Amino acid sequence: MQSTTRRTVLELVHRGRARTRRDLSRLIGLSRSAVAQTVAELVAEGLLSEHVTDLSEHGTDREERRGRPSTQLRLVPHPGWVGAIDLGHRHVAVALGGMHHNVVDEARVGWRVDRSAQEALALAQSMLADALGRHAGRRADLRALGVSVPFPVVDATVQPIGSVPGWDGVRPSDLLGLPNATAVIVDNSSDLAAWGEFVQVADPGVRSLIYVSAGDGVGGGLVINGQVFSGTHGISGEIGHVPVPGCRLRCRCGRTGCLDALVSAASAGDASSVRAAGRAVGTVLAQVSSFVDPDLVVLGGALGSCDPGFVDSVSDSYRRHEPSRRVAFTAARLGLRSPLWGAFDRATQEAWASAFQLSPASRTRRLRATALPA
Ligand SMILES: [Zn+2]
Repeated sequence: MQSTTRRTVLELVHRGRARTRRDLSRLIGLSRSAVAQTVAELVAEGLLSEHVTDLSEHGTDREERRGRPSTQLRLVPHPGWVGAIDLGHRHVAVALGGMHHNVVDEARVGWRVDRSAQEALALAQSMLADALGRHAGRRADLRALGVSVPFPVVDATVQPIGSVPGWDGVRPSDLLGLPNATAVIVDNSSDLAAWGEFVQVADPGVRSLIYVSAGDGVGGGLVINGQVFSGTHGISGEIGHVPVPGCRLRCRCGRTGCLDALVSAASAGDASSVRAAGRAVGTVLAQVSSFVDPDLVVLGGALGSCDPGFVDSVSDSYRRHEPSRRVAFTAARLGLRSPLWGAFDRATQEAWASAFQLSPASRTRRLRATALPA
Protein backbone atom coordinates (compact mmCIF):
# COMPACT_ATOMS: atom_id res chain seq x y z
CA MET A 1 0.00 0.00 0.00
CA GLN A 2 1.18 3.47 -0.84
CA SER A 3 3.00 5.17 1.97
CA THR A 4 1.12 8.43 1.45
CA THR A 5 -2.24 6.70 1.96
CA ARG A 6 -0.94 5.04 5.11
CA ARG A 7 0.21 8.38 6.45
CA THR A 8 -3.03 10.11 5.50
CA VAL A 9 -5.08 7.44 7.29
CA LEU A 10 -2.92 7.67 10.43
CA GLU A 11 -2.97 11.45 10.29
CA LEU A 12 -6.76 11.77 9.92
CA VAL A 13 -7.35 9.37 12.81
CA HIS A 14 -4.71 11.11 14.92
CA ARG A 15 -6.25 14.52 14.24
CA GLY A 16 -9.67 13.24 15.20
CA ARG A 17 -11.08 14.06 11.77
CA ALA A 18 -11.83 10.46 10.90
CA ARG A 19 -13.35 7.99 13.36
CA THR A 20 -14.59 5.32 10.99
CA ARG A 21 -13.62 3.74 7.67
CA ARG A 22 -16.54 5.56 6.15
CA ASP A 23 -15.08 8.92 7.32
CA LEU A 24 -11.75 7.94 5.77
CA SER A 25 -13.32 6.99 2.47
CA ARG A 26 -15.15 10.33 2.32
CA LEU A 27 -12.13 12.44 3.31
CA ILE A 28 -9.51 10.67 1.18
CA GLY A 29 -11.75 10.06 -1.80
CA LEU A 30 -10.79 6.38 -2.10
CA SER A 31 -13.20 3.45 -2.45
CA ARG A 32 -14.32 1.77 0.76
CA SER A 33 -12.53 -1.42 -0.23
CA ALA A 34 -9.23 0.43 -0.76
CA VAL A 35 -9.62 2.12 2.63
CA ALA A 36 -10.55 -1.20 4.24
CA GLN A 37 -7.36 -2.77 2.88
CA THR A 38 -5.12 0.00 4.27
CA VAL A 39 -6.91 -0.08 7.63
CA ALA A 40 -6.55 -3.87 7.78
CA GLU A 41 -2.81 -3.55 7.11
CA LEU A 42 -2.37 -0.88 9.78
CA VAL A 43 -4.38 -2.95 12.29
CA ALA A 44 -2.28 -6.03 11.47
CA GLU A 45 0.89 -3.99 12.03
CA GLY A 46 -0.41 -2.84 15.41
CA LEU A 47 -0.63 0.85 14.50
CA LEU A 48 -4.42 1.17 14.50
CA SER A 49 -7.05 -0.51 16.62
CA GLU A 50 -10.77 -0.97 15.97
CA HIS A 51 -13.43 -0.74 18.66
CA VAL A 52 -17.10 -1.55 18.26
CA THR A 53 -19.06 1.33 19.77
CA ASP A 54 -22.65 2.51 19.78
CA LEU A 55 -22.31 5.92 18.18
CA SER A 56 -26.02 6.72 18.12
CA GLU A 57 -25.58 9.81 20.27
CA HIS A 58 -22.72 11.28 18.31
CA GLY A 59 -23.12 9.74 14.88
CA THR A 60 -23.09 11.93 11.85
CA ASP A 61 -24.10 9.56 9.11
CA ARG A 62 -27.37 7.72 8.56
CA GLU A 63 -26.21 4.31 9.74
CA GLU A 64 -24.83 5.81 12.92
CA ARG A 65 -27.98 7.83 13.60
CA ARG A 66 -30.06 4.66 13.40
CA GLY A 67 -28.10 3.55 16.45
CA ARG A 68 -26.27 0.65 14.82
CA PRO A 69 -22.98 -0.20 16.42
CA SER A 70 -20.08 1.29 14.51
CA THR A 71 -16.43 0.37 14.37
CA GLN A 72 -14.29 3.23 15.64
CA LEU A 73 -10.65 3.59 14.78
CA ARG A 74 -7.96 4.65 17.21
CA LEU A 75 -4.23 5.09 17.02
CA VAL A 76 -2.42 2.51 19.15
CA PRO A 77 -0.16 4.31 21.63
CA HIS A 78 3.37 3.94 20.31
CA PRO A 79 6.37 3.72 22.63
CA GLY A 80 9.24 6.13 22.41
CA TRP A 81 10.01 9.78 23.04
CA VAL A 82 10.25 12.89 20.90
CA GLY A 83 12.30 15.89 22.01
CA ALA A 84 12.76 19.49 20.96
CA ILE A 85 15.40 22.11 21.75
CA ASP A 86 14.91 25.81 21.05
CA LEU A 87 18.01 27.98 21.26
CA GLY A 88 17.29 31.72 21.12
CA HIS A 89 19.93 34.46 21.38
CA ARG A 90 19.13 34.64 25.11
CA HIS A 91 17.42 31.42 26.12
CA VAL A 92 17.54 27.63 25.99
CA ALA A 93 14.21 25.76 26.02
CA VAL A 94 13.46 22.07 25.77
CA ALA A 95 10.31 19.99 25.38
CA LEU A 96 9.77 16.27 25.74
CA GLY A 97 6.74 14.32 24.63
CA GLY A 98 5.38 11.08 23.31
CA MET A 99 4.73 10.01 19.74
CA HIS A 100 1.26 11.58 19.63
CA HIS A 101 2.01 15.27 20.02
CA ASN A 102 1.59 14.97 23.76
CA VAL A 103 4.20 17.25 25.35
CA VAL A 104 4.75 16.08 28.93
CA ASP A 105 7.65 18.27 29.98
CA GLU A 106 8.91 21.73 29.13
CA ALA A 107 11.65 23.92 30.59
CA ARG A 108 13.22 27.27 29.68
CA VAL A 109 16.22 29.14 31.10
CA GLY A 110 18.01 32.39 30.25
CA TRP A 111 21.39 31.84 28.52
CA ARG A 112 23.72 33.76 26.21
CA VAL A 113 23.53 31.26 23.38
CA ASP A 114 25.62 33.20 20.83
CA ARG A 115 28.81 32.80 22.89
CA SER A 116 29.30 29.08 22.29
CA ALA A 117 27.38 26.38 20.45
CA GLN A 118 29.11 23.73 22.54
CA GLU A 119 28.03 25.24 25.87
CA ALA A 120 24.46 25.97 24.75
CA LEU A 121 23.96 22.47 23.34
CA ALA A 122 25.52 20.87 26.45
CA LEU A 123 23.05 22.80 28.61
CA ALA A 124 20.13 21.79 26.37
CA GLN A 125 21.22 18.17 26.52
CA SER A 126 21.36 18.14 30.29
CA MET A 127 17.90 19.78 30.46
CA LEU A 128 16.59 17.09 28.13
CA ALA A 129 18.21 14.35 30.24
CA ASP A 130 16.55 15.84 33.33
CA ALA A 131 13.17 15.82 31.56
CA LEU A 132 13.64 12.17 30.52
CA GLY A 133 14.64 11.36 34.10
CA ARG A 134 11.46 12.94 35.48
CA HIS A 135 9.40 10.60 33.30
CA ALA A 136 11.53 7.47 33.70
CA GLY A 137 12.50 7.71 30.02
CA ARG A 138 15.70 6.35 28.54
CA ARG A 139 17.94 8.25 26.12
CA ALA A 140 17.95 5.20 23.87
CA ASP A 141 14.18 5.56 23.42
CA LEU A 142 14.43 9.11 22.05
CA ARG A 143 13.24 8.56 18.49
CA ALA A 144 13.71 12.07 17.15
CA LEU A 145 14.95 15.48 18.28
CA GLY A 146 14.15 18.82 16.65
CA VAL A 147 16.73 21.57 17.20
CA SER A 148 15.92 25.22 16.58
CA VAL A 149 18.86 27.65 16.31
CA PRO A 150 18.73 31.46 15.95
CA PHE A 151 20.84 31.44 12.75
CA PRO A 152 20.35 30.36 9.14
CA VAL A 153 20.87 26.65 8.58
CA VAL A 154 21.91 25.01 5.31
CA ASP A 155 22.23 21.21 5.14
CA ALA A 156 22.06 20.93 8.94
CA THR A 157 25.03 23.35 9.22
CA VAL A 158 24.77 26.74 10.92
CA GLN A 159 25.73 29.64 8.66
CA PRO A 160 25.23 32.93 10.53
CA ILE A 161 24.73 36.23 8.73
CA GLY A 162 28.03 38.00 9.42
CA SER A 163 30.42 36.10 11.66
CA VAL A 164 29.41 34.55 15.00
CA PRO A 165 32.62 32.77 16.12
CA GLY A 166 30.85 30.45 18.55
CA TRP A 167 28.58 29.13 15.80
CA ASP A 168 30.21 29.53 12.36
CA GLY A 169 29.94 26.24 10.47
CA VAL A 170 28.71 24.26 13.49
CA ARG A 171 26.77 21.04 12.90
CA PRO A 172 24.64 20.74 16.05
CA SER A 173 23.90 17.05 15.45
CA ASP A 174 27.65 16.29 15.72
CA LEU A 175 27.87 18.01 19.11
CA LEU A 176 24.81 16.33 20.61
CA GLY A 177 26.29 12.82 20.65
CA LEU A 178 22.90 11.11 20.48
CA PRO A 179 22.40 7.43 19.64
CA ASN A 180 22.45 6.73 15.88
CA ALA A 181 18.81 5.66 16.01
CA THR A 182 17.72 9.16 17.05
CA ALA A 183 16.82 11.30 14.05
CA VAL A 184 18.01 14.89 14.50
CA ILE A 185 16.40 17.77 12.61
CA VAL A 186 18.18 21.13 12.77
CA ASP A 187 16.60 24.27 11.41
CA ASN A 188 16.42 28.01 11.79
CA SER A 189 14.14 29.17 14.61
CA SER A 190 12.06 31.48 12.39
CA ASP A 191 11.36 28.69 9.91
CA LEU A 192 10.40 26.34 12.71
CA ALA A 193 8.29 29.04 14.37
CA ALA A 194 6.50 29.70 11.08
CA TRP A 195 5.78 25.99 10.86
CA GLY A 196 4.74 25.80 14.54
CA GLU A 197 2.21 28.59 13.97
CA PHE A 198 1.01 27.15 10.65
CA VAL A 199 0.02 23.84 12.21
CA GLN A 200 -2.07 25.74 14.76
CA VAL A 201 -4.14 27.54 12.13
CA ALA A 202 -7.60 25.97 12.17
CA ASP A 203 -8.77 27.36 8.81
CA PRO A 204 -7.77 24.84 6.10
CA GLY A 205 -8.06 27.66 3.56
CA VAL A 206 -4.89 29.25 4.97
CA ARG A 207 -2.04 27.91 2.83
CA SER A 208 0.61 30.63 3.07
CA LEU A 209 1.82 32.78 5.90
CA ILE A 210 4.62 35.13 6.83
CA TYR A 211 5.93 34.78 10.36
CA VAL A 212 7.89 37.66 11.89
CA SER A 213 9.41 37.48 15.34
CA ALA A 214 10.15 40.86 16.88
CA GLY A 215 11.85 41.31 20.22
CA ASP A 216 15.55 40.94 20.75
CA GLY A 217 16.10 41.19 16.99
CA VAL A 218 13.87 40.41 14.04
CA GLY A 219 13.46 37.02 12.41
CA GLY A 220 11.18 35.88 9.63
CA GLY A 221 9.95 32.64 8.12
CA LEU A 222 7.70 31.67 5.24
CA VAL A 223 5.16 28.94 4.72
CA ILE A 224 4.12 28.80 1.06
CA ASN A 225 1.42 26.41 -0.09
CA GLY A 226 1.65 24.45 3.12
CA GLN A 227 5.44 24.01 3.00
CA VAL A 228 8.22 25.88 4.78
CA PHE A 229 10.32 27.77 2.24
CA SER A 230 13.87 28.31 3.52
CA GLY A 231 15.60 29.56 0.38
CA THR A 232 18.99 28.52 -1.00
CA HIS A 233 20.98 30.10 1.86
CA GLY A 234 18.42 29.52 4.61
CA ILE A 235 17.57 33.20 4.90
CA SER A 236 14.24 33.52 3.09
CA GLY A 237 11.82 35.65 5.06
CA GLU A 238 14.63 37.32 7.01
CA ILE A 239 13.70 40.98 6.89
CA GLY A 240 15.84 41.99 9.88
CA HIS A 241 18.62 43.57 7.86
CA VAL A 242 16.49 45.66 5.52
CA PRO A 243 17.59 49.30 5.97
CA VAL A 244 15.09 51.66 7.61
CA PRO A 245 15.30 55.25 6.26
CA GLY A 246 16.50 57.67 8.95
CA CYS A 247 17.64 54.94 11.36
CA ARG A 248 21.26 55.34 12.50
CA LEU A 249 21.46 52.56 15.09
CA ARG A 250 24.31 50.08 14.83
CA CYS A 251 23.17 46.54 13.99
CA ARG A 252 24.65 43.22 15.15
CA CYS A 253 25.45 42.47 11.48
CA GLY A 254 27.98 45.34 11.46
CA ARG A 255 25.94 47.75 9.36
CA THR A 256 23.84 50.68 10.57
CA GLY A 257 20.13 51.42 10.23
CA CYS A 258 18.80 47.84 10.01
CA LEU A 259 15.22 46.99 11.06
CA ASP A 260 16.75 44.49 13.51
CA ALA A 261 18.58 47.28 15.36
CA LEU A 262 15.45 49.47 15.53
CA VAL A 263 13.27 46.66 16.90
CA SER A 264 15.90 45.48 19.39
CA ALA A 265 16.17 49.02 20.78
CA ALA A 266 12.37 49.29 20.97
CA SER A 267 12.03 46.02 22.88
CA ALA A 268 13.89 47.70 25.74
CA GLY A 269 12.22 51.08 25.15
CA ASP A 270 8.92 52.88 25.81
CA ALA A 271 5.51 52.62 24.14
CA SER A 272 6.28 55.25 21.51
CA SER A 273 9.47 53.46 20.40
CA VAL A 274 7.47 50.19 20.21
CA ARG A 275 4.91 51.90 17.94
CA ALA A 276 7.68 53.35 15.76
CA ALA A 277 9.26 49.90 15.43
CA GLY A 278 5.82 48.45 14.57
CA ARG A 279 5.35 51.04 11.84
CA ALA A 280 8.77 50.21 10.39
CA VAL A 281 7.99 46.47 10.38
CA GLY A 282 4.61 47.15 8.71
CA THR A 283 6.26 49.27 6.02
CA VAL A 284 8.83 46.57 5.21
CA LEU A 285 6.12 43.88 5.15
CA ALA A 286 4.04 45.96 2.76
CA GLN A 287 7.05 46.12 0.45
CA VAL A 288 7.83 42.40 0.49
CA SER A 289 4.42 40.79 0.85
CA SER A 290 3.50 41.02 -2.81
CA PHE A 291 6.31 38.51 -3.52
CA VAL A 292 4.64 35.97 -1.24
CA ASP A 293 0.98 37.06 -1.33
CA PRO A 294 0.18 35.44 2.05
CA ASP A 295 -3.19 34.73 3.70
CA LEU A 296 -1.85 35.62 7.09
CA VAL A 297 0.93 37.50 8.88
CA VAL A 298 1.79 36.07 12.32
CA LEU A 299 3.75 38.30 14.71
CA GLY A 300 5.81 36.50 17.34
CA GLY A 301 8.68 37.22 19.70
CA ALA A 302 8.37 39.31 22.87
CA LEU A 303 6.91 42.35 21.07
CA GLY A 304 4.84 40.49 18.49
CA SER A 305 3.16 38.01 20.79
CA CYS A 306 2.95 40.01 24.02
CA ASP A 307 2.33 43.64 23.00
CA PRO A 308 -1.04 44.30 21.27
CA GLY A 309 0.08 47.89 20.56
CA PHE A 310 2.90 46.53 18.41
CA VAL A 311 0.57 44.30 16.34
CA ASP A 312 -1.79 47.25 15.78
CA SER A 313 1.07 49.50 14.63
CA VAL A 314 2.32 46.85 12.20
CA SER A 315 -1.10 46.21 10.64
CA ASP A 316 -2.04 49.93 10.50
CA SER A 317 1.21 50.80 8.78
CA TYR A 318 0.90 47.81 6.41
CA ARG A 319 -2.63 48.82 5.40
CA ARG A 320 -1.59 52.42 4.78
CA HIS A 321 1.00 51.19 2.30
CA GLU A 322 -1.05 48.31 0.88
CA PRO A 323 -4.73 49.32 1.14
CA SER A 324 -5.87 46.96 -1.61
CA ARG A 325 -4.54 43.62 -0.40
CA ARG A 326 -6.47 41.74 2.25
CA VAL A 327 -4.10 40.07 4.69
CA ALA A 328 -4.99 39.07 8.26
CA PHE A 329 -2.61 39.99 11.10
CA THR A 330 -2.43 38.03 14.31
CA ALA A 331 -0.20 37.64 17.35
CA ALA A 332 1.55 34.26 17.54
CA ARG A 333 -0.83 31.78 19.11
CA LEU A 334 2.02 29.95 20.79
CA GLY A 335 3.66 33.15 22.04
CA LEU A 336 7.35 32.59 22.68
CA ARG A 337 6.97 28.82 22.21
CA SER A 338 6.41 28.87 18.42
CA PRO A 339 9.94 27.68 17.49
CA LEU A 340 9.97 25.00 20.21
CA TRP A 341 6.61 23.63 19.08
CA GLY A 342 7.64 23.79 15.40
CA ALA A 343 10.79 21.78 16.25
CA PHE A 344 8.71 19.29 18.23
CA ASP A 345 6.22 18.88 15.39
CA ARG A 346 8.98 18.32 12.82
CA ALA A 347 10.67 15.79 15.11
CA THR A 348 7.34 14.00 15.53
CA GLN A 349 7.07 13.73 11.75
CA GLU A 350 10.52 12.13 11.61
CA ALA A 351 9.64 9.76 14.43
CA TRP A 352 6.47 8.77 12.61
CA ALA A 353 8.29 8.28 9.33
CA SER A 354 10.67 5.73 10.85
CA ALA A 355 8.26 4.09 13.31
CA PHE A 356 5.48 3.64 10.78
CA GLN A 357 7.79 2.81 7.88
CA LEU A 358 6.69 5.68 5.70
CA SER A 359 8.85 6.17 2.66
CA PRO A 360 11.23 9.19 2.59
CA ALA A 361 9.13 10.79 -0.15
CA SER A 362 6.19 11.05 2.20
CA ARG A 363 8.26 13.03 4.68
CA THR A 364 7.67 16.18 2.70
CA ARG A 365 4.01 15.98 3.66
CA ARG A 366 3.31 17.80 6.85
CA LEU A 367 1.62 16.27 9.81
CA ARG A 368 -0.67 18.92 11.21
CA ALA A 369 -1.29 19.02 14.91
CA THR A 370 -4.73 18.71 16.39
CA ALA A 371 -4.41 20.93 19.40
CA LEU A 372 -2.21 23.34 21.25
CA PRO A 373 0.43 21.65 23.38
CA ALA A 374 -0.52 21.63 27.04
ZN1 LIG B 1 21.75 44.32 10.25
